[in-house]
Amino acid sequence: MKKVTSASSIVTINHYRNLLQSEGIDAFLKNENLGSIVGEIPFPEVWPELWVRNDLDYDRAKQLIDTDKLIEESPGENWKCGKCGEENEGQFAACWSCGKPA
Ligand SMILES: [Zn+2]
Repeated sequence: MKKVTSASSIVTINHYRNLLQSEGIDAFLKNENLGSIVGEIPFPEVWPELWVRNDLDYDRAKQLIDTDKLIEESPGENWKCGKCGEENEGQFAACWSCGKPA
């Protein structure tokens, strides 16, 4: 068993677990009930933790979560539509004007 990551929010850690499980990785949580005892912002020591049961899944699990973090934290740079030339904000996956995918 190996710890993959921890998060201050049970919602976040649940999201990661679902992500791994949808990829067929056997993942489970630790500390999932402790955070609420301490308060709204738990100490890192008692943050909910995400573990994989099989050490061989660790690298892939880590990669999946890192990719997910990147997507959530950086909406990306503005991009210019190749079809109509409109400027689009990074979080849009398709041109707002003509619908062409980025
Ligand atoms: Zn366009």
